[in-house]
This record gives sequence, C-alpha cells and structure tokens, in this order.
Amino acid sequence: EAKRHGINRLQCFTARLQTQLEKSIRLEKGLRRALEHNECELYLQPKWNLCDQKIIGFEALLRWLEDEGGVKRFISPTEFIPVAEKTGLIIPLGEWVIYQACKLLKAWEAQGISHYPIAINVSPLQLKSGNFGASLKAILDEEGIPAHLLEIELTEETLVDIYSEDDNALEELEQIRSTGARISIDDFGTGYSSLKYLKHFPSDYLKIDKSFVSVEGMDSLAEPAICRAIVTMAESLGMQVIAEGIETDKQLQALTAIKCSMGQGYLIAKPMPAEQALLFAQNHNGMEREQPVPSPS
Ligand code: C2E
Ligand code: MG
Ligand code: MG
Ligand code: MG
Repeated sequence: EAKRHGINRLQCFTARLQTQLEKSIRLEKGLRRALEHNECELYLQPKWNLCDQKIIGFEALLRWLEDEGGVKRFISPTEFIPVAEKTGLIIPLGEWVIYQACKLLKAWEAQGISHYPIAINVSPLQLKSGNFGASLKAILDEEGIPAHLLEIELTEETLVDIYSEDDNALEELEQIRSTGARISIDDFGTGYSSLKYLKHFPSDYLKIDKSFVSVEGMDSLAEPAICRAIVTMAESLGMQVIAEGIETDKQLQALTAIKCSMGQGYLIAKPMPAEQALLFAQNHNGMEREQPVPSPS
C-alpha cells in the first residue's frame, strides 16, 4: 500500500514536471517567433513627482501579445521573462527593448519633447553577457540619444547576485554609469541582502518594492515604518526614492508625509501603449508648460 502510494506520488510529480517542461518549451518557441514577428510591445508607465504631481518620466514594461492562429492572447512578463532568462533569449529580447526605448526617445525628440526619461528593466544575464555596457553605449551613440534619458533598472536581487559572484559585473556597472545613463535599484527591500552592496554600486534611485506600499484590499500604506527607513537611508546615501505600486490617495499622502519624492502606480496610471502614455503625460502636466516663451520684439 505504502509502495503504491509512493508510485502514485512519483507519477504525479513526473506529470507535473512534464507539464511544466511542455509549457516552458511552448513559451520558448512562441517567444522566438514573437521576436521574429514583432509581437512584443513596450508599454510605458508614468513616474511622477509626488510634490508637484507632475509626470517626470516612464518605466518601460514589456508586453507580449501572442498570436496563435489569429487568436491574440496577452502573456505577462512575469511568465515569459524567466523562460527568456533560462533559454538565453533574454539577450536579443533585452537588446530589442533598448532599441525600442531609444526609438521612442528619438521620435519624441523630433517632436520637441525631450524631457521624459525612459527606464528599462535589465536582467542579470544581460549584465553578465560581458558587453552590456559597451553595447548600450554603442546604441546610444548610434541613435544619438543623450544618455541621461535612458535609465537602467536592476533589481536588488540582481545586484546582490552579481556582487557575490562576479567581479566583472562591477566594471559593467561602472561602464553603464560612464555612459551617463542613470541606475535604479528595483524591488528594493525584497532581496534578503546585506546592505553592503549599496556602497559598492553607485546608483541614482532606490525603488521601494510595491509590497511595502500596497496590499490588496488595504487602503493605507502597507509598511509605513519600512518605507520611512528606506527614505531616510536613501537620503543619507545620496539617492532618490521612487515608491512602486501606489494605488490609493491615502498611500500617496503617507508617502508625501515621509518625503518620498517620486512614485509609480495605478493611482495615476497603469502601463499603457507609448503614444497613449505620452498623451497622458502631456495632458496631465498641463499644456501651459509647453507654451513657448514670447520673444521680445
Ligand atoms: P518591475 O520592474 O518591478 O515593474 C513593476 C510591476 O508592477 C509591473 O508589472 C507593473 O505593471 C506593476 N505595477 C505598477 N503599478 C502598480 C500598482 O499600482 N499596483 C500593482 N499591483 N502593480 C503595479 P509587469 O508589467 O507585470 O512586470 C513585472 C516584472 O517583469 C517587472 O517588475 C520586471 O521585473 C519584469 N519586466 C518587465 N519588462 C521587462 C523587460 O523589458 N526586461 C526585463 N528583464 N524584465 C522585465
Ligand atoms: Mg522595474
Ligand atoms: Mg519593481
Ligand atoms: Mg518586480
């Protein structure tokens, strides 16, 4: 009886593994095709200044609209990024993201709009590929984009990961910095880390993980004490803080009260297609700012 029980469990386990494997193979195939057929899109989520409420830039979030014989299905990055990382596809995908962000920045500049930086998310594998900094610089130069308009988001987990095992990664980060691109530490507070790495990696922004800001069904700030501690620490390290996942007015007020300077979240806007995001920002910020100063005559 016990033996049969064991066999059943094993079969169950094998079946689950099988399903997972099949799913990941299907995703991998699909992702390759998506890259070839341009089925990906960069959505942009506004970042705003909590003091004056103005939109100050965007975060680019990858979207994959899978097309299965005419039936379109949206697949979340939390589902396909891990597969892209496991298969190495994150390298061409990540490059596509950089190009796409630069393309947007260039198109905006042509319209006379060059005050909204775009932040992109970068995986540890991209950093470890050995030429991330160099290829970033090449793309920026090639496209003629001022580097301060491109921001690089690395999760705390990524930084801790490379801090503990890879000396070259520090060089890579220095190289990113030397291009003039800004660096953000994403999902801060979730990496179970010693804080030592903060001193070693020169970064511009700390992003408070959204789990400290909002919890489903809760109106107030999820972890006020932790948020306050992060703001204080960032200040003494010369970094600015961005709170992720602001969903309610109460959370916004609590964050303003502790002098968190920037934020992102559904309260202001969800990630949306680039054109829409730009329009949103311009409407939100008010047209009066866009008016030219009258020339003396
Ligand atoms: P992230 O970089 O921390 O991005 C923030 C995530 O929180 C996004 O999820 C965003 O849609 C979501 N979010 C924003 N505001 C709110 C809010 O008010 N409430 C809640 N509940 N969620 C909010 P998304 O777009 O599903 O992306 C998930 C993760 O996938 C990202 O987390 C990032 O780590 C990864 N990712 C997305 N695009 C890329 C990419 O181009 N490259 C890489 N390597 N990773 C990416
Ligand atoms: Mg991010
Ligand atoms: Mg985050
Ligand atoms: Mg995240």
